[in-house]
Amino acid sequence: MRRLPTNALRFKRRLLRWFRSQGRALPWRRTRNPYHIIVSEFMLQQTQVTRVASYYPKFLRRFPTVRDLAQAQPSQVREAWDGLGYYRRAANLHRLARTVVRDHNGTIPDRPQELQSLPGVGRYTAGAVATFAYEHRTAIVDTNVDRVLRRVFRPRDDGTQAMWSLAEKILPTRRPTAWEFNQALMDLGALVCTARSPQCDACPVQPACRTGTKER
Ligand code: SF4
Repeated sequence: MRRLPTNALRFKRRLLRWFRSQGRALPWRRTRNPYHIIVSEFMLQQTQVTRVASYYPKFLRRFPTVRDLAQAQPSQVREAWDGLGYYRRAANLHRLARTVVRDHNGTIPDRPQELQSLPGVGRYTAGAVATFAYEHRTAIVDTNVDRVLRRVFRPRDDGTQAMWSLAEKILPTRRPTAWEFNQALMDLGALVCTARSPQCDACPVQPACRTGTKER
């Protein structure tokens, strides 16, 4: 896709306006601490937001910094993760903390490429840390965002790489606004444009959506 889709600007305006009044006040949105953000992203990989919201502060009380986590015993990390399931995530997070302390002097990298070299960090998580912690202008495409973009823009090429390119193309230029935009996309997919029952009639971006308006 070479050009910006014709509905992109309208979509962005409407999405940001909605997010500023209706976006979820999630605990990991109140911080830019990269370690805290990465903990939330690991927890969110396979667990519902409401469940993560209750475990996230407890985990951070137990391991407030990446160095605290790196120094912990595997059994302590597993115990702190207890109840969230999929313990492989906890093991990866622990390995990540040790790698960051050993190879990066305790500072979590800010560039997606470097982030992707850390244990348990794929393309989405790397982008999420870059944008949510460092406010870099970095695209993120998870299942929710992918669905929203497909419905709103109905791109001819909807392969994985094309969807990432589209997400990048429509990102606002200003970094704090790109942060908001990425968070807003996730909220729209989670709250309104859901997989099974999209609420088109109540959707804030409906006039700019090629599925909601049945237009191309
Ligand atoms: S109008 Fe419908 S399909 Fe389009 S973004 Fe909103 S909920 Fe999703």
